[in-house]
Amino acid sequence: MKIIMLGAPGAGKGTQAKQIADKYSIPHISTGDIFRANIKNGTELGQKAKKYMDQGLLVPDELTCDLVMDRIQQEDCKNGFVLDGFPRTIPQAEALDAALVKIGQKMDFAIDVDVPDENIVNRMSGRRACLNCGATYHIVSIPTKVEGICDRCGNSVVLRDDDKPETVQKRLKVYHEQTQPLIDYYKKQNILKSVDGTQPMEKVFADIVAILGE
Ligand SMILES: [Zn+2]
Repeated sequence: MKIIMLGAPGAGKGTQAKQIADKYSIPHISTGDIFRANIKNGTELGQKAKKYMDQGLLVPDELTCDLVMDRIQQEDCKNGFVLDGFPRTIPQAEALDAALVKIGQKMDFAIDVDVPDENIVNRMSGRRACLNCGATYHIVSIPTKVEGICDRCGNSVVLRDDDKPETVQKRLKVYHEQTQPLIDYYKKQNILKSVDGTQPMEKVFADIVAILGE
């Protein structure tokens, strides 16, 4: 069961990926984790990646793909894996496919957690954070007991810059330009499955299980 998660930032694909990993006992693989592990262990690929990151540069697609390929060929991936945050662009998807072909493998599912932009902007603009103790809230789903005041430490809670509509809109623009074309890419390969990400989290997950099988 080799799965790619697709979806806009804030659509909840990371949460779904974790649940898939738990239910099917397969690793949840994010590029951030792979980079950190390789740098920590001082691998050759990790040292190469670190050179770019230290200069504040993006790690090139080919190197990222090498790191992902190295990870998915480890023992714990023999029954499958969930890729979260990679591929992000068409060139990355093509590099991944080419590398998989070389080892006689292919992806089985690309699951798109579909949420319209305006829902994402609304969701994010409802987030509140306490800058003193780090607690996070949401004005609708996880409200503070007293409006605007952190339950844990009594400081005021704020809307972080990252969650402000203009910041979210910018991230969504990048997503539409670079990542959304992957939806057509995987549709053409007949492995795309879309789920309605506006539903409650448990319902989204139930829909995914219906696709993957019990
Ligand atoms: Zn607090």
